[in-house]
Amino acid sequence: MALSVVDLYARVLPRTNCGECGFPTCMAFASMVVSKKLPLKGCPHLSAEAVSRYQPELDAQHAAGKWTQRDLSADALAWARERAASMNLADLPARIGGELTEVDGRPILVLPYFQGVIHIGREGIRTADGGELGRWEQVFILNHMAQGGSRRPTGRWKSLQEIPNTVSKIKSMHAHVEEPLRERFAGHKGELAAAARSIGGVDVTAETESVDLAFHFQPLPRVPVMLLFWDGDGGSGFGAEVKLSFDETITEHLDIESIMFLSEHLANLLLNR
Ligand code: SF4
Repeated sequence: MALSVVDLYARVLPRTNCGECGFPTCMAFASMVVSKKLPLKGCPHLSAEAVSRYQPELDAQHAAGKWTQRDLSADALAWARERAASMNLADLPARIGGELTEVDGRPILVLPYFQGVIHIGREGIRTADGGELGRWEQVFILNHMAQGGSRRPTGRWKSLQEIPNTVSKIKSMHAHVEEPLRERFAGHKGELAAAARSIGGVDVTAETESVDLAFHFQPLPRVPVMLLFWDGDGGSGFGAEVKLSFDETITEHLDIESIMFLSEHLANLLLNR
């Protein structure tokens, strides 16, 4: 039987995202094995039995040209949909927030998402005006639906470093979120504040110690994010710094991949204002 990226990720790889294969996540490694014919033994944590069992299957599908260059987002969305398929929409408001309603006789969960709302139904996830969310954004929401616990935010903030099992993501957070924001907004505190307000951020600088700016975002009802900014010398950008903080309950609502997606999405929204 052929192995898709999701099969390999869900059934074969350890899913610890340790990065020792040279890729930041097990999903990224799985994608390279399936689409670029990378040998399975590149993951040092697989047993010899697992390699000798699955490598011949991979060799056969590579020879048949199956799934090479496949779009990873399509696979990830199929897997996330499968994961969320057994959920009852009526159970979701108690866990992840939002409100259950009916549109054209069909049950829909209306879920606040950044400044707007999204509509979640059996047919898929759409924006309030009927537009379709991007594939990765749908994967993110489906994973939140599958994982989301019912605990509400406590107001105790943690940096990514303080959240367990995030070591492999610290560099990505710096490279893809904190550094681009620092480069863009060092010396431009007012522009960062304007960008943050324009996407629904609430200025909490006055209640936050030792920062030049602090903004509270509420991308999802159970998932707040805090952006902290120090402007260094304010002119050359020397010493400027940006950090994201998360409520201590975040891992009950999002897995680490989803935390990274959310952080990069927030950074992109700010950078593209
Ligand atoms: S080495 Fe790569 S594939 Fe193996 S567990 Fe670590 S991140 Fe996953």
